[in-house]
Amino acid sequence: MLTKNEKLLSKELRKIKKTGIKNIIDGKLLGSSSRKTFENHSPVDGKLICSVTSGNEKDIDKAAKSAHKAFETWSKIGHKERKSILHKVADQIEKYADEIAVLESYDTGQPIRFTKKSALRGAANFRYFADKAIDAQNGLSTPDTHHVNFTMRQPIGPVGVITPWNAPFMLSTWKIAPALATGCTVVHKPAEFSPVTANILSKAAHEAGLPNGVWNTIHGFGESAGKALTEHTLIKAIAFVGETSTGSHIMRQGADTLKRVHFELGGKNPVIVFDDADLDRALDAVVFMKYSLNGQRCTSSSRLILHEKVYNKFVKKLTERVANIKVGNPLDPNTEVGPLIHPSHQEKVLSYAKLAKEEGAKILTGGTAPRGKLSIGCYVKPTLVEGVTTEMRIGHEEVFGPFLSVMKFKTEAQAIKIANSVRYGLTAYIWTKDTSKAHRLARDVEAGMVWINSQNVRHLPTPFGGVKYSGIGRDGGEYSFDFYMETKNICVAYGTHSIPKLGAK
Ligand code: NAD
Repeated sequence: MLTKNEKLLSKELRKIKKTGIKNIIDGKLLGSSSRKTFENHSPVDGKLICSVTSGNEKDIDKAAKSAHKAFETWSKIGHKERKSILHKVADQIEKYADEIAVLESYDTGQPIRFTKKSALRGAANFRYFADKAIDAQNGLSTPDTHHVNFTMRQPIGPVGVITPWNAPFMLSTWKIAPALATGCTVVHKPAEFSPVTANILSKAAHEAGLPNGVWNTIHGFGESAGKALTEHTLIKAIAFVGETSTGSHIMRQGADTLKRVHFELGGKNPVIVFDDADLDRALDAVVFMKYSLNGQRCTSSSRLILHEKVYNKFVKKLTERVANIKVGNPLDPNTEVGPLIHPSHQEKVLSYAKLAKEEGAKILTGGTAPRGKLSIGCYVKPTLVEGVTTEMRIGHEEVFGPFLSVMKFKTEAQAIKIANSVRYGLTAYIWTKDTSKAHRLARDVEAGMVWINSQNVRHLPTPFGGVKYSGIGRDGGEYSFDFYMETKNICVAYGTHSIPKLGAK
């Protein structure tokens, strides 16, 4: 018997199959000028979901021109109107939340228990930045003796937003909502592995009254559509979320047009658990932060750095919990881990399990694809590995799957050394009841964001971003506005200062 989620999914799939996924330029659904399409398959069962327009340089050019034209009006629209439209976008997202959740689950393999929340998080992102739109232009007053200086912020222009496949819907709203709130217009290039929900998001925005051209969506591959977007002269900035190596490409591609960039890149985040921590809560957080969202989560703690005194007891409980995680069809509300995004990614994650053995680590549970019914999809059993050192590739490379490496430490200095031994620096999690120790570690760990005695809990006004190879720049609240806006200084004289009189008699 079909479940409610499956019924809704098949209804939505019928619609998408009929039309395929098209680009959206100036409010119109269009195929690519090359007429090329590519096929999008589900990681759940390998079945064809739909064909997708493969955008190219010409399509990006049209979209950039449309965003450039729309900038004239959108950047000047009153903030009250902008706020009202963005709230309406949030209303529409909430209206489509169930459809978004089932489609995102089938398209990406993310369990429905998370995609339901991420659709609503997307709406919350729009509401937050809608309310902040009124402050977007605010600046600073810096008076001098004979002049008064003041600053105002102005939207930078049309911007490119390039998103990955791991949480495509939520991450797109996270980037696009602040851009629109400042008065920027957008060309969005969604990931080729997960194109399905991007057009529902755009549909929601247009139904909410967003003028045509303010938000354009071009589907396609990174090397073609993505590259053309980063090189386009009318595009003033690129907000990018994805792999560190792609960030380097984008920096090179954008050099000729002096693109401003904001990068949210890879991670190999540590969770340090001391012997004096609340170990039950730490255990819950460690399991959640690695195995939620199929482990395909940039902020996940993929290295557990565990104090030697509690090592054996903690690892025993952890192994039981990981082995007990419910792997299954992502549309089943009971599923905790679904299939990974694509067969190539499944293969990559499984290759790290093989590598773990070759490097001398020990797999405590998982490390293989499940047999039987789940052998059709891109599933990987939740994997736990001990005996890992930072020199091993599994100890410092990003796996981006349900794969946790455990390391042992004795002293605080050792814990910090292990935590900082990788090239990444996105998040860090510290578990201890000793407040001074927690503060010392928070100060010394190389990460853009640190949580003490907590899993990742996002508060929208706080800065989000990484250090080292994990990113450049910060998102969230005012930080997003700094990226999407230029600060202009205006200096007004009181008429009391002297002006040098060159050439005077
Ligand atoms: P990816 O870098 O392969 O692709 C991301 C996007 O970039 C896609 O839309 C792709 O088409 C595009 N792209 C690829 N090559 C391009 C090029 N040369 N020019 C322009 N665009 C190009 O990343 P992915 O595999 O989709 O996502 C997984 C990665 O994203 C992981 O490394 C993960 O850590 C990272 N991530 C980071 C954060 C964060 O906040 N730091 C959040 C989510 C994901």
